[in-house]
Amino acid sequence: MLKKMGFLLLALSLSIFVLIGCSAEETQQEELVDEHQDETTVSEDATNEEEGGLAITTSFSILGDIITTIVGDRGTVDYIVPIGEEPHEYEPVPSDFQKVSDSDVFYVNGLGLEEWIEKLVESVGGDISIISVSEGVTPIMLEGGEEEDPHAWMSVENVKLYVENVVDDLIERDPEGESTYRENADAYLAELEELNTFIKTEVEAIPEENRVIVVSEDAFKYFGEAYGFQTEGVWEINSHEEGTPGQISRVIDVVKDQDIPAIFVETTVDRRYMESVSGDTGVEIAGEVYTDAVGQDGSGAETYILMMKHNVETFVNGLK
Ligand SMILES: [Zn+2]
Repeated sequence: MLKKMGFLLLALSLSIFVLIGCSAEETQQEELVDEHQDETTVSEDATNEEEGGLAITTSFSILGDIITTIVGDRGTVDYIVPIGEEPHEYEPVPSDFQKVSDSDVFYVNGLGLEEWIEKLVESVGGDISIISVSEGVTPIMLEGGEEEDPHAWMSVENVKLYVENVVDDLIERDPEGESTYRENADAYLAELEELNTFIKTEVEAIPEENRVIVVSEDAFKYFGEAYGFQTEGVWEINSHEEGTPGQISRVIDVVKDQDIPAIFVETTVDRRYMESVSGDTGVEIAGEVYTDAVGQDGSGAETYILMMKHNVETFVNGLK
């Protein structure tokens, strides 16, 4: 029991390490945690077999979809932030604390996305193993150069890394499931490669000077870097959201100066900011795009792959 508690406390430090950044001292701590994690996995596996699979919670719906694909029938996957809400400044509710506390593992994006994680960890009381799936991603820094842009999933190459991180962690927790996890992941990685090719081929229909994405939150930076788009937002990231007249007029100027043919709204952000830009420039809002959540049932964007395809088709229709 003491050992288990030690693990839990260290897991807690790891979560803070993962989310806040690292120093040499903290790196040592991470190594310690890894050793303890190995020890704990053994006892957890025994429990899992009895209970019939891993209980997995993820922070938001996009991760939920990706991880469900890998886990298959070896566990259950749930997510915290409801579809339609944005994951940066979400306020966890008591049922979220329960969900996480009942889970074998809590997968988060990391890179500072889940700003509410400390509050959740405090309320759950530390009995929780938190894994950041974005380990190894080359981060794009926010303006000012101190914080990382968390929207790494907007590049398919990064999601391949997410998949590899999750598979490694699942195998450690549930070694008997290794072949299932690997098969599911390989099939999914092949689909992701197809998606990557689809995006690269589709965007060729957009004249180069029109490859500009204008939305409320500048969440497409990783997408822009991967597929050759300039990206503009009223604000840089939802947690810095202000939507001041100055921010809006800056975007209006960009749209006018560059003669941008279409702008877009996100499903997880208030439309009024882009409506204001549209009203002032006369440029049409050419559709809704998905950035921080998959679509509702019936939207045609219920999975990560579908939402990315929807976004690309929406950009092509508006900007070609
Ligand atoms: Zn966002």
